[in-house]
Amino acid sequence: MSTEMVTAEQELLSLEDAAEFLCVSKSTMYRLLDQRKLTGMKAGKQWRFRKEDLLAYMQRGPAAQALAKVPMPVLDTELDFLGTELAKAGTEPAACDYPMLEDEAGRITQYLRRLVWLLHTLRGSDIHLNPIWQADGAAVQLVLRVDGALREIRRLPFVMYDALVLEWKRQAELPIEDTHHPHEGRSQFVFGEIMLSHRVATVSTIYGEKVSVRPLPTTIPTLQVLGIDDTPLVALSKRQRGLLIFAGPTGSGKATTMSAFVQEILTHGPRNIMTVVDPVEYIFMHGVTHLNLAQMTPVEGLRAVLYHDPDVVMLGELRDDPELAQQAIWTAETGHLVLTCQHASDPVELLYEMLAMGVKRALFANNLIGVVYQQLAPKLCAQCRIPATPEPDTLEKMRQAARAGGYTLPEDAVFYQQTGCPSCGGRVALHEFILFTPEVRQAFLQCASKEEFTKELRAQGLLSFFAAQVQQAVSGKISLETLQRYMPY
Ligand SMILES: [Zn+2]
Repeated sequence: MSTEMVTAEQELLSLEDAAEFLCVSKSTMYRLLDQRKLTGMKAGKQWRFRKEDLLAYMQRGPAAQALAKVPMPVLDTELDFLGTELAKAGTEPAACDYPMLEDEAGRITQYLRRLVWLLHTLRGSDIHLNPIWQADGAAVQLVLRVDGALREIRRLPFVMYDALVLEWKRQAELPIEDTHHPHEGRSQFVFGEIMLSHRVATVSTIYGEKVSVRPLPTTIPTLQVLGIDDTPLVALSKRQRGLLIFAGPTGSGKATTMSAFVQEILTHGPRNIMTVVDPVEYIFMHGVTHLNLAQMTPVEGLRAVLYHDPDVVMLGELRDDPELAQQAIWTAETGHLVLTCQHASDPVELLYEMLAMGVKRALFANNLIGVVYQQLAPKLCAQCRIPATPEPDTLEKMRQAARAGGYTLPEDAVFYQQTGCPSCGGRVALHEFILFTPEVRQAFLQCASKEEFTKELRAQGLLSFFAAQVQQAVSGKISLETLQRYMPY
């Protein structure tokens, strides 16, 4: 055998190695082969790839073309900018940079590593990459959400845009060529002992694809850690059957609360818990089976789950899917505990919307445990809080709204504001609980409108969301300023 042949043979890569070399998934490799974008050879049933073919693909691939447009000084300036932001946040590039990433493609990866590390250090909840149009042409807004507030940290030059979007899509194994359909995937960055996972979503906008990145939790909090172990949730975790709805606006942390609730269920002993949720936000390492819904609808998933005799079933949104809603109630009726997360800005309205969707009222009422409605608010800092006095007319309005919501504000009630100190920060979950006692169930069966039902709830002593938050403000959990945001009028 000549030396040349040996070299040629050594350079043949298996499908797995080639996928790793190109940083794509195996299914992407098959797609590239199907579309004849990549040349491979078949040895028996095995694919083999020549390194030069892979290199040729990389050089004409969309990522390479996008990268070629970015002037390196621009990329270096932006890397330096993130370096400065990291320093301000109390960490440094050395904590997140990977030394091998020196070439041009590596620098883009380095940029993403610095960005996710910055978000992690600031304990932020999302990154947005928004293509925009401004007076001097296109640009990209780099926006972070920290403690619930959005902040544009940088206006990036548009030459960076394609390379950044493609790098995010590559990291999340999303189809790079398809820029028109929305996509959602999961990325992972390893920093020594720490692995940070993110949900990466793209959507086509009039100026190009927008990318949103949300950190996926690495651990599942307990009710105690969330500071909600003094709520009815602890008692509810002992229920064996029924439907419990976790509701709230987007970003209200309802999925977090639902997962902490499941954590609480698991403290009572092993249970067969199955999730029919896509995407999975919280991955339980033990005790919970997460269905992969890539190839089935939630209704199919729920039907399949019932053959596995679950004690608890976790579901996603029911409201856009009348069939799933009916099935969910049947599952509860037949002796399972069903938990679901619903986007809603008003818990009573949610119940009446489900009726309007065709859910049978009697069956619904008989199986509903209740609605846990939640919003997230900035936590009042106990270190630097001082008393705050509302304007007399504001106080009067607050007093009236609290009374209408079922709570009488004491004459000597004290409100607070924070003055700002290093301990400030963090968020707190605020709730309204509508628990279906026999009386509430009866009211729900009889009240034709949500207004009537709300009146009944107050008559039975259930607090409105606002009234519950007045109580929280008076007990020093949230500031007067936060409370005023929830004023009903
Ligand atoms: Zn403070």
